[in-house]
Formats: sequence, structure tokens, C-alpha cells
Amino acid sequence: MRGKGVARGYAIGRAVVMGAAALEVAHYRIAPDDVESECRRLRDALTRAQADLHHLANNLPEDAPRELGAMLNVHRLLLGDPLLADEAQALIRDRHYNAEWALTAQGQLLGEQFDAMEDEYLRERGGDVRQVIERALHVLSGTPALLPEETVCSGGGGEPLVVIAHDISPADMLRLRGARFSAFATDLGGPTSHTAIVARSMGVPAVVAMGNVRDIVRDGDMIIVDGASGTVLINPSETMLAQYRGLQRVYADERAELELLRDEPSITLDGISVKLEANIELPEEAPAALAAGAQAIGLFRSEFLFMGRAELPGEEEQYQAYASVVRVMAGRPVTIRTLDIGADKTLDDEVTVATNPALGQRAIRYCLARPEMFATQLRAILRASAHGPVRLLIPMIAHMHEVEATFAAVASARRELDARGQAYALHIPVGAMVEIPAMAIAIEPFVQVLDFLSIGTNDLIQYVLAIDRGDHDVASLYDPLHPAVLRLLAHTINAGERAGKPVAVCGEMAGDPRYTRLLLGLGLSEFSMHSQQLLDVKREVRRAHSNALRAKVANVLNRALPVDLARLEQA
Ligand code: PEP
Ligand code: MG
Repeated sequence: MRGKGVARGYAIGRAVVMGAAALEVAHYRIAPDDVESECRRLRDALTRAQADLHHLANNLPEDAPRELGAMLNVHRLLLGDPLLADEAQALIRDRHYNAEWALTAQGQLLGEQFDAMEDEYLRERGGDVRQVIERALHVLSGTPALLPEETVCSGGGGEPLVVIAHDISPADMLRLRGARFSAFATDLGGPTSHTAIVARSMGVPAVVAMGNVRDIVRDGDMIIVDGASGTVLINPSETMLAQYRGLQRVYADERAELELLRDEPSITLDGISVKLEANIELPEEAPAALAAGAQAIGLFRSEFLFMGRAELPGEEEQYQAYASVVRVMAGRPVTIRTLDIGADKTLDDEVTVATNPALGQRAIRYCLARPEMFATQLRAILRASAHGPVRLLIPMIAHMHEVEATFAAVASARRELDARGQAYALHIPVGAMVEIPAMAIAIEPFVQVLDFLSIGTNDLIQYVLAIDRGDHDVASLYDPLHPAVLRLLAHTINAGERAGKPVAVCGEMAGDPRYTRLLLGLGLSEFSMHSQQLLDVKREVRRAHSNALRAKVANVLNRALPVDLARLEQA
């Protein structure tokens, strides 16, 4: 099957097919010695859930509808059905799944069988199956098993696992991060959807926009994921497996060779020094950024601290998180972006009713509408600046009054810290993301008042081309090489150069080595990307002649057709 490859690499492993509920439960393989106790855990949970239902049915209030008692009994029978209990235990014995995983996998299969039935009454029983599974999972969560030392992962002892899902929200990706799966394939999503971005940050191959991979793949199928070409092979032949194992080895050798560049300077053939910086979503990623040789954190997407949790982080928690990154980076600048919530990144308890969330109250619009929340974050960021260089980055600016309102909010946060006697750096550069076309077109006044700019190509392209970055149906129209995109990039970079203000690109384009020469040719000298991509880009920088590229790119900017990247290869 084909989709959009969004994170390079090859993975060969067993499919874990996930529904929404499955994402919530732990997936790991148990040790062979624990099979019997895990089966017992499962049986006990099913018996407990049955007993609960029995108790409920026998203690219904007088006025409860008669059908309710009957329904509870149906659920009780389902929990005792061998198709559920025996088959789930078989998964524990044969594949060493933990009880929760075995239960969700078997429940999903049964649910789908019911869904496919002709008879409407029987079809609806699929919903009952899902409800009883939820109930048994709930019981299991009260008797959590000890996580084994070695959770299954690419490098671990068991077979690698490949997550197959309809879609994975950015919050679910955060939950999966700890489980260390070896690849992802999803029905939905685009190359710069936040799911793809998080997969890249985890350094595992990923393919999105597959259409119906979740319907076709079965739990436990053997899967090959080729994250470069966007190919997913299901139950491949031995010959295919051997071929891909070979490709996996070649890729690993290539990565090892790249490692040799780690301590080499990032400088073009004609001596132009290029800053390579890291994008992070969570503080835990900072050590990897430093180890990869990042000269700064060019983008800390702070919203990931706020997602996948019931309560928002307070000032102290945020301060600790930001300060920890500042400390890890040991004197290198840390660019903290204020909350960019909205569009595909939502808070757990928020249901958006916006007809088009990407054009709605997102990022700075969201923050300015919630002054208390914004002030809390600004104070936390300012306090972190006491430990090392911090830059403040504002997302989704379109209007000058938003910049002014942000300056006012920063000034007020400083006054509050002064009143409390808390320390912060006297000078904190304030910059904005250039990701709304209006700002890129009318960039001149913005570059005067701001200290730096960072171009968010992911959103800029989305808004210039009217392509939803997460919509798989239009993923093929998402074209970073469109002349309109390139002219906006050129215009912004030139404006920064004239005003003597630094301009970076922190969208996914900056981390894709196919575009490195083009961006150098546009005059870019600051690239921010996931640390996994840093050495690929460094290799391109070290092979390029910046001035020759500038002359070439200037010549193609006014063409009607997208730039032919091959023509830049010689420079
Ligand atoms: C961008 O839009 O390019 C960007 C870097 O921000 P995000 O991907 O978080 O929207
Ligand atoms: Mg953006």
C-alpha cells in the first residue's frame, strides 16, 4: 500500500492495530515465564466485570426499564464468551501480549465482525462488545501489572512493533512516545501534520495518508514500512523481507557515516557559516538536541506541555520545564514559542465548535483572549531566562496590534516579577513566526519592531496554497516549491537581511535535505529542525557553494513553474 512517507527509515515488525480506546492502554510484551499469571489476570478481570454486572442487574431500581436488566445480562454473557476470553488468552500465550493489549486486539476483531453483519440488530451488538471491553479494561486498570524492564521496542528483545491506526492525535503520540514503537502508518494525516512531526522527532519511519490501512491490516500481521517512499508491505514474502533487511543495513551504515560529521563545522564551501538549530516538543528532547550538535533550540513548541492532561501546567511547572532546557543547552539560546494551541493541537477538555479551526482562535489569538493563561506562561518563560539566553517567539501573527498586545503583556509580566522580586534577564529578544501570508507580504514594519523572525513553512504553505496540512486528500497539492511560497520566503529573508535582523526557517522544510540548497540560495543561514535531521542537513551545507546558489535561485524565482531542484545540484 502507498501513502505519504513522512519520516525516513525502514522498519520490519508486527502490526499493532489501534482503535481510539487501544491508544489509551499499555502495550507491551510479557516475559514467557509470566504467561500463566497474565492469563490469570485477564480471567480475574473478566470474572470481576461479570460479577459487577450481575450485582448491577440484581439491584436495579424499581422504575428501571425492563430492557436494562436484559442488556446487563447480555453484557455478562459476552464477557464469559469463549470467543473473547479464550482467544485473548491465546494472544497472551502465543504472542506474549499483556492482558490489556490482548483484550483490545480481540475486542476489535469481534467488534468488526459484528459491524459487518447484515442484520441491523446484530450489527448493533458490536457496540455492546466495545462496552464490555471497556468495562474489563477498567477492572484491569485497578490491578496494574508491573511493566517489564524491557518494554517492546525496536532495539529490545522481542519483535519490533508497527503501529497501524486510523489517525493518531498529537496528544496520543505523546503517550506512545514512551512505548518506543518502531514505525507508524496511519490512514489520515499530511506530511506536516503534527502527528508526522512527532514521528520524525522520535526518529522512527512513518507513513501517513494511506486511506484505509487500518481496515486492511490485521493485528499481528508482518509489516514492512519504508518511510522514504511511503510504502507499506503487508505479510511480505521471504524474498521481500530479505531485500528490505538489506536496505535496513545500508540505511544504518549511512547513518553511521553521517555521525562522523557531528563535530565538523556547519560551513559552506565558500566559507558561509550556517546555524543549525533544533526543534523540540518536550524538555526531555533537549539532551538529544545538544548531542546532535544543535547550536540553539530554534523552536520549543511549548503547547506539548499543555496537551494530553486534565489540568493545565501552572507557572512553577512551566518554569521548571523551560529552565531545564535552558540549563541543558548550557549557554546556547533557547527559543520558546508561546502556546500554539488550536487547529489540530487541542487541549484535552476542549471541544472546538469552530467551522474551520485552522482559521479560528489559534495560537496568539487564543492567548490574547485568555490574558491570565498568557501572563502565567510569560512569567514562567521570563523566569527561565535567569538561567541562560532565552528568546521569546510568538506564533500566528498577522496584525501589528497583536505584536503590540504581546509587548504589553511581556511588560506587565516583568512588572509582576519585579513586584515579587524574582529574577529574569534584562534583554530577551522577542520574535514572531512568519506563517500567515499577510505578515510575509507586508513584512517590513514587523521586521522593524521585532528582534528576529522565524518562518513557519508548515503553516505558511498551508495558508498560501489553501491546503489543510493534515488532510490526506490534498496532501499531494502541498508543494513547498510553488513559486508563491518561494517568493514569500525570499521576500521575508531579504527584509531581515536589509534590517539586520536574523531570519530562521523552523518549518519542516528546514529539516529536509532536499531543500537545503534551495534555502541557502534564498539567502537563509539559520535552519531549525528535529535533531534527527541535523546531520543530513549539515552534509548538504558542507557540499554547497552559497554564493553560486544565490545567483542560480535569483534566476528561477520569477518562473511560473515550481523550481527544478536538480538544476541546483551543481552549485
Ligand atoms: C510551522 O508552522 O511551520 C511551524 C514550525 O509551527 P507548527 O508546525 O508547530 O505549526
Ligand atoms: Mg505553525
